[in-house]
Amino acid sequence: MRPASCYEAGVIVRATLLLVGLAATVAVAAPTPAATGAHALVLGVAQDGGVPHIGCRQELCATARRDPARRVAVASLGLVDEATGERFLIDATPDLESQLERLNAGRETERRRPVDGVLLTHAHVGHYAGLMLFGREALGADRVAVHATPGMAAFLRANGPWSQLVEQRQVELHERPPGEEFALGRFRVTPLKVPHRDEFSDTVGYRVRGPRGSLLYVPDVDKWEKWERRLEDEVRAVDVALLDATFFDAQEIPGRAIADIPHPLVGETLDRLAAAGLASRLVLVHFNHTNRLLWDAGAVRAVEASGARVARSGDRFPL
Ligand SMILES: [Zn+2]
Ligand SMILES: [Zn+2]
Repeated sequence: MRPASCYEAGVIVRATLLLVGLAATVAVAAPTPAATGAHALVLGVAQDGGVPHIGCRQELCATARRDPARRVAVASLGLVDEATGERFLIDATPDLESQLERLNAGRETERRRPVDGVLLTHAHVGHYAGLMLFGREALGADRVAVHATPGMAAFLRANGPWSQLVEQRQVELHERPPGEEFALGRFRVTPLKVPHRDEFSDTVGYRVRGPRGSLLYVPDVDKWEKWERRLEDEVRAVDVALLDATFFDAQEIPGRAIADIPHPLVGETLDRLAAAGLASRLVLVHFNHTNRLLWDAGAVRAVEASGARVARSGDRFPL
């Protein structure tokens, strides 16, 4: 028997390498349960001004100025589908740059289209001002899909500098009327109109349903009693509800009666949901820099003892 020629040996080696390579490819591509999952990823939990808050002299803010690791990014929620690779972002905050990095976590994206879509809740600075980074002074984005109510879309089209993003096609507006469900990849999303200070646009929260779970995201709302929907019904309809916890209690705003504070206090939300047996679905988010849930471990423990949770960046919820 003649020995295998160098050519044949080379073919065998290459074939073997090919098979090993294929096996490796298959092994890498074989989906693990975690990798197929769709989930929401908390990317920030602070009220619009973030932490440190401009002009704030309290310990929380002073500490965060000394130690950047103690900064708290503005509230934003990522929607991740590991099966399709898609990433969506609810709200474009002033912390958009680092939040997109965290959302993509090393995923390759088109450089000028770093996210598959942005959903806006309303025209307050912590929720849409990050769009400015899509403009030509920064990314010069290429038709990033922006989903917003017709009112919010009209505001962006009619007012600079946002109008320039639309004219130059750095963003592409998709009007999403409140109450009407739409599809984003495998996610089904419904904007829900909520009462809030609507100077420039109306305000919505989002109900998101994925292949294996659902959530409600309402980072800003006036008192629950003013909502045309019933809080308990909306929370019961989902697995988890991330809700406005701007203020912990009335002591944070001296000189103002509880009734005058235009947000549900943490205790008010917690009491209602606990009475309905729904506290375990509550996740508190959108903390003003005065809210003790940002620094007071005892207050956090008291909330958690009720079954509710205090959102932190990096938290994940299956969708
Ligand atoms: Zn806000
Ligand atoms: Zn607001």
